[in-house]
Parts: sequence; structure tokens; C-alpha cells
Amino acid sequence: MTAASRRRILSGMQATGRLHLGNYLGALQNWVRLQDEYDSFFFVADWHALTTAYENPSDIPAATREILIDFLAAGLDPGRCTIFVQSRILEHAELHLLFSMFTPTPWLERVPSYKEKQETLTDRDLTTYGFLGYPLLQAADILIYKADAVPVGIDQLPHLELTREVARRFNHLYRSVFPEPEALLTAYPKVPGLDGRKMSKSYDNAIYLSETVEEMGAKIKVMVTDPARKRRNDPGDPNVCPAFGLHLIFTGEDDRAMIEKECRRAGIGCVDCKKILIQGVERGVAALVERRRSLAARWSDVEEAVRAGTDRARGVARETMVEVREAMGLA
Ligand code: SF4
Repeated sequence: MTAASRRRILSGMQATGRLHLGNYLGALQNWVRLQDEYDSFFFVADWHALTTAYENPSDIPAATREILIDFLAAGLDPGRCTIFVQSRILEHAELHLLFSMFTPTPWLERVPSYKEKQETLTDRDLTTYGFLGYPLLQAADILIYKADAVPVGIDQLPHLELTREVARRFNHLYRSVFPEPEALLTAYPKVPGLDGRKMSKSYDNAIYLSETVEEMGAKIKVMVTDPARKRRNDPGDPNVCPAFGLHLIFTGEDDRAMIEKECRRAGIGCVDCKKILIQGVERGVAALVERRRSLAARWSDVEEAVRAGTDRARGVARETMVEVREAMGLA
């Protein structure tokens, strides 16, 4: 099937740091599956990173490079999907500006992540215009490619709903240019971090794709387990053990069944249990880690692939902007 005859999807990752196992299992693996079914656009959102990291922008280019390597190492194929960097396509900024003219601020203030992030990231001032407008920039990112669908987790649905509202308002005020993209809902596995909370770089509890398998193993060795299991002879409960949460993803069924049984009667200790987990994680990520190492040594190839993707994306964005300017009387 040609790209033109397939439905189009778009998704991105913010350049706020390296990607971790949660990003890989939650989003990247899914994108890899989707890249043949859809005309797929995947990008690194470096401008989005600025909305919360505007005081330290110097880290963003390095994060962008690392994420592009992660994309390719995870299995995104530049020959089968379009990979690009947001800030290389200035048309995103133009569309964001034009959308900002008719988007009521209450639409942005009511997006749940606006308040949530302000409450969580208390070490910085997020009472900025750019932070408030972040979901609108996201709407521009999606609509400029006329994406038919967006792969999202349930927590991102309010953002997509805003995008749909913006498309409707534009089409109503001027003329019909944008489709209303649908949610391609994905059930993400729950990936526990080293401290038992959701794996996240902001919690400093993540295992990064850029780490060696030895570094990953060392982190797992100190990962929290069932807090009630203080001594080797105490029986444990895998249901409350974060390490077992990783077993559910990386360990084969037989070993998992054995651990569930033996943990409950103190037949296996956490040290031995984690040895099995480390082997499972190593098996699960060994190919990715190796591809990553090889790609990092061939940065110019990655750059070339991304340049080609960015050129293709820019072509599509420019076509849309011609329609937008005509519709708004700005041609
Ligand atoms: S034996 Fe395994 S599942 Fe049980 S508490 Fe220890 S690490 Fe968790």
C-alpha cells in the first residue's frame, strides 16, 4: 500500500531527556507496529521541551539527538515512516500563531495537565504564555499534517479533544481545511520505576535505553520489592512488588509462575528473583541496546535519515499552510 492510500497518524516525544523503558514499552513499540499500517509521522518535539525547560535550553539539542537514536534503535524505519524534528519546520509556529488568534484561553486553562504540571514542577515558573499555549502548539503539530488519527494513552485524550475543537472552530470560521483526528487508543503496560512509582524521568526512577545492560542490571539489583518482606524468611506478595511488575513484562510464563508461588512461601529470595528478572530484561533489550550502540557511532547516517524525513514533513506542512492562508484571506 502506498503512503497516499493509507490513513495518516502522527505522534511525538518531548526532548526533555533520554528515553526510558517506560517510553519504549508504552509508546515506541506501538509506533513500530503502526508504521506499516499507517502513513506514519513521528517527531521530536524540541519546542515543547522549551515550555518547561526554557531556563536551560542548552540540554535540548543533545536530548533531541539521543531520542532520534532511540527511535531508530527501537525499530522505526526511516524508509517506512517519516521522522523529523519539530523546530526544523517553522510552519508549525506559524499555524500555532494563527490558531492562537481564535482559541479562547479557557479552553487551554481547563486542560488537566496545565494545573497538574504547575503543581508538580514547583522548581520553575510555569505561569508563562508558552506553557499555557503548549496544547495549542500540539494541535498545530497534528493538524498541519492533517493526521487522521493520533496514537494516545487515555491521559492524553483531553489534549486531543482540544485539537478536535480547534479544527472544528477553524473549519467553521473560515472553510473546511482540517480533519478531526481520532484517538488511536493504546493500552500501555504499567511500567514500574525503581521506587515503585510509574517510571518517569522526573521521579529519577527510570532505566534508560541508552544504558548498558550491566547498568540496567545494577539498577534492578537495588529496585524496591515488597516492603513487608524484610528478611529472607518472610513470605512476600508479588502483587505489591514493583520488581514483579517488571517480571510481568520481561519474564517467561513458567519462571513467573514459579516466582509467584515461591515468593509467597519464602521459597525464593529477592536476590535470586532479581537475577531471573535481570536475565529477562537483558534478553528483552539486548538487540535494541546493540542497535543503539551502532547507530550512535554512525550519527551522520541518523542525521541523513532525519533530514530526508524533515524534508518530506516540511513539504506536507507547506501545502497545508497554503490552504490555511487562503482560507484566512492571507494568501
Ligand atoms: S521474591 Fe521477587 S516477587 Fe517476591 S518480593 Fe522479592 S523481588 Fe518481589
